[in-house]
Amino acid sequence: MSDTPVIEIRDLHKAYGPLEVLKGVNLSAQKGDVISLIGSSGSGKSTLLRCCNLLEDSQQGEILFEGEPVRWRGTGGNRQPADRGQVTRIRTNLSMVFQSFNLWSHLSVLQNVMEAPVHVLKQDRSEVEPRARAILEKVGIGDKADVFPAQMSGGQQQRAAIARALCMEPRALLFDEPTSALDPELEQEVVRVIKALAQEGRTMLIVTHDMRLAADVSSHVIFLHDGRIEEEGPPDTLFGNPQSARLKQFLSHSQ
Ligand code: ADP
Ligand code: MG
Repeated sequence: MSDTPVIEIRDLHKAYGPLEVLKGVNLSAQKGDVISLIGSSGSGKSTLLRCCNLLEDSQQGEILFEGEPVRWRGTGGNRQPADRGQVTRIRTNLSMVFQSFNLWSHLSVLQNVMEAPVHVLKQDRSEVEPRARAILEKVGIGDKADVFPAQMSGGQQQRAAIARALCMEPRALLFDEPTSALDPELEQEVVRVIKALAQEGRTMLIVTHDMRLAADVSSHVIFLHDGRIEEEGPPDTLFGNPQSARLKQFLSHSQ
């Protein structure tokens, strides 16, 4: 069904030991939605993103990928995904881009981009390579296919990481502070790529401290505070007419 969300989170609770980090979070991303997650450091943004593609366990609540609920075994604090095949399917369909790029330093850019399609999805190299090269062109580093990550700028490395995520042909992209490690002038190279992806109608969840990016690309913005959604809505409303005192205060510090 076309109105089944790509990813849906219902009443998610997550703790690290005694530390409750997510206290009942709901989120739903339809195809083409660009959802930005904003909030102070430590509010639970990365944890929420990592829960979406099952890099973190959680204690309570539902996670659904294209309408398919994650199946758990065990209960309460001890639950874990029950089906490794399902975990792999979800993870490969929700590709993550990290703040620190996380490229393989011993592989060329092209090899980095081809690695998961070839080794995880078991696709043919001959089929993956032209796609990988086309994606590198698209993110503006077609000439860097044969260099190693250390020979590139941070902005180029992050674009290589985005290319790597795209080459999996995922249903959604998850970005965790994709521009935070970059100098301002390099940040813009990455912002341009993210904006182009938004215009193509890609489904994306973006954790960001960059309010301009959130305002420019998002269809929906979620403000997390202390593990709860304090306020959410379309960017014009959330940034133009914030309601909660906490959001007002947060925005006044982040411009
Ligand atoms: P944000 O991304 O909004 O800065 P995080 O989701 O990274 O917040 O962290 C939320 C809270 O969970 C913080 O208090 C952080 O210290 C804690 N936390 C994050 N990861 C772990 C972990 N692996 N083990 C224990 N505590 C963690
Ligand atoms: Mg974080």
